Amino acid sequence: MNWSRVEQRIGSNRFQRLQQAKVGIVGLGSGGGFVALSLAKSGVRHFTLVDDDVMEVGNVVRHVCDLRSVGQLKVTAVSALIAQRNPEAVVKTYPKRIQDCWQALAELDLLIVGVDGERTKFEVNAVCLERKLTAIYAGVYERGEGGDVVWIRAGYGPCYACWAAQLREDIAALPEGPALDYGLSIEEQDLRAEPGLWLDVVRVAAAQTHFALAVLSEPDDGEPNLRGNTLLIANRDLEFFPGVTTPAQSSHWIQIDRQEDCLVCGAVSASAAEDEPPVSLQELTAPSPFDRQDSEQ
Ligand SMILES: [Zn+2]
Repeated sequence: MNWSRVEQRIGSNRFQRLQQAKVGIVGLGSGGGFVALSLAKSGVRHFTLVDDDVMEVGNVVRHVCDLRSVGQLKVTAVSALIAQRNPEAVVKTYPKRIQDCWQALAELDLLIVGVDGERTKFEVNAVCLERKLTAIYAGVYERGEGGDVVWIRAGYGPCYACWAAQLREDIAALPEGPALDYGLSIEEQDLRAEPGLWLDVVRVAAAQTHFALAVLSEPDDGEPNLRGNTLLIANRDLEFFPGVTTPAQSSHWIQIDRQEDCLVCGAVSASAAEDEPPVSLQELTAPSPFDRQDSEQ
């Protein structure tokens, strides 16, 4: 493969870091599958894929794999796609639920969380904190109206539980819904009436990939080139904060800080971020260095 254009674009050192990095992806639905393929096309070579699901005909309209993969495990199908784009890639596959193979996360540099359920994300969060593993979570809102991506660096700033408590108070309290790609809680028959769904999911997954590349291409102690730890993405006009409309096709950076009283990351070793006060959603509506709207495309 000729990677010279990628290497020229990002520089040799960064490209080398991408090639050496070990990336795990938990959940290979429409979002996780897209991230896996996009990272492979960006030069990432070491993958660990975790998903116990099989490709079904109904998945095809919103997945990077097509009809040829129907009946295959998603880890097998996505692994084959990666090999077509980056033959040098080394892919470990775990056709299991993450809860049954936490050892898959050993020795990773970064975890991409592409699972839907908040409960699973909380379980992944606890294990990542324990193992000091950085993770990037994504969620797509109902009917693909928008979504969000957050970068959680274990031991610094918020954990996923702190973050969710501030951003998704209402969602975190809900019982686990049906397993659908990236938190979509809509009925299968509605999918046919949503021709933009694939694009809506991909827009969020593309942002998740950008986060991953920003984190992976920096040295261990470097700060990735991100304007905050969270990107709120509007596919339609959305009101993330009362009275503030984020227009369709735009996004909004915010920084969510650690909650001092978080029981999840409070148990893990203290960090400098502990001195920072928790931030409420109300406070987030006030202008801050990260409070700006960016057109993504
Ligand atoms: Zn926490």
